[in-house]
Amino acid sequence: MNQPIKEVLALKDVHHWYGDLQAVDGLSLSVAAGEVVCLLGPSGCGKTTALRIAAGLERLQQGEVRLNGKVVADGTRDLPPEDRNVGLVFQDYALFPHLDVAANVAFGLSRMSASERKERVESALALVGMAGQASAYPHQLSGGQQQRVALARALAPRPPIMLLDEPFSGLDTRLRGQVRDEALHVLKEVGAATLLVTHDPEEAMFMADRIAVMNGGRLMQLGTPAELYFHPASAFVASFLGDTNRLEGEVSGGSVPTPLGELEAGGLEEGAPVEILIRPEALQLMAEQGEADEGSGFAEVQAARLLGRSSLIHLSFAKAGAQEPPLHLHARVPGRFLPQEGERLKVQLDRSQAFVFPASTAR
Ligand code: ATP
Repeated sequence: MNQPIKEVLALKDVHHWYGDLQAVDGLSLSVAAGEVVCLLGPSGCGKTTALRIAAGLERLQQGEVRLNGKVVADGTRDLPPEDRNVGLVFQDYALFPHLDVAANVAFGLSRMSASERKERVESALALVGMAGQASAYPHQLSGGQQQRVALARALAPRPPIMLLDEPFSGLDTRLRGQVRDEALHVLKEVGAATLLVTHDPEEAMFMADRIAVMNGGRLMQLGTPAELYFHPASAFVASFLGDTNRLEGEVSGGSVPTPLGELEAGGLEEGAPVEILIRPEALQLMAEQGEADEGSGFAEVQAARLLGRSSLIHLSFAKAGAQEPPLHLHARVPGRFLPQEGERLKVQLDRSQAFVFPASTAR
């Protein structure tokens, strides 16, 4: 039998306004012990507000916040942040410049005996690989090291929940990848429930067990990265999680005809206008051989760019014998496949990565 999942943080139907502006609109989600949940969405969608409400930094206006099964805020009561036992990490590290690394990490441990505090500081610094820097001052550390210290400081009191707001976005690309990899291992090792705010879908997919996609204060979809990427519930989620080619169409004869073949209409009404989102990796490219069959067509290569792990091919696609102007499509292919400009290729669509939505759900 499966162990019951231990819910550490729960937000229930949380609403929040700044004056007339509704920043959070009916958000419900929970985070279990050992789980990393990312709040993902564009700037201004309410992620930080939701995290601040969970931390107690923003007073709850409507809804409920539970920590370890206990209601900590419900509109009548609001436990202050220092009594919630949450670990907080922000983008700007917020280390005390006049304290060395050890003193920064010890900051939240004042209620402990000196020996226990020392042991906690040492183990937290060891966890983030900074044991050798205990007596350094923040200005002597790189951005990545400072963020590791900030993580150690948040972890030192061993909180059951860690709340992280864009913790890696102050770091340059290279360092960001490294620090978030380390942070993921540390968070998993300590088994804290983690809620992490990010606007970067790649980061969310890298870090998260589950992702909560928000837009305009609302939860658009909550699921594993694979659920969101391969089964997006809306055009917004599909296009926010990754690049897409966008076509317009309408339901005809129970399906959606496209220049790349018929797609399932997903129960939409006959004649309904739809938008079709196709992931660049859904376009399979082959050397041109013979006639195009149903579900394929010919494309002329306009440009091919190596992006490292994959290549991006710009295509001008025309259905054999069709009158319509050619489509501009992007195909992403693994590895070093770099066809020549002007080369003709056969294009086949992997339908599992083509999504049909009613046109009205457009961004
Ligand atoms: P970002 O990634 O840009 O921080 P976000 O998704 O975290 O965005 P929030 O910071 O929660 O979004 O902001 C949600 C909305 O509330 C935005 O329109 C923002 O301008 C507004 N807002 C945030 N804080 C305040 C505040 N203290 N007073 C007034 N409006 C605010």
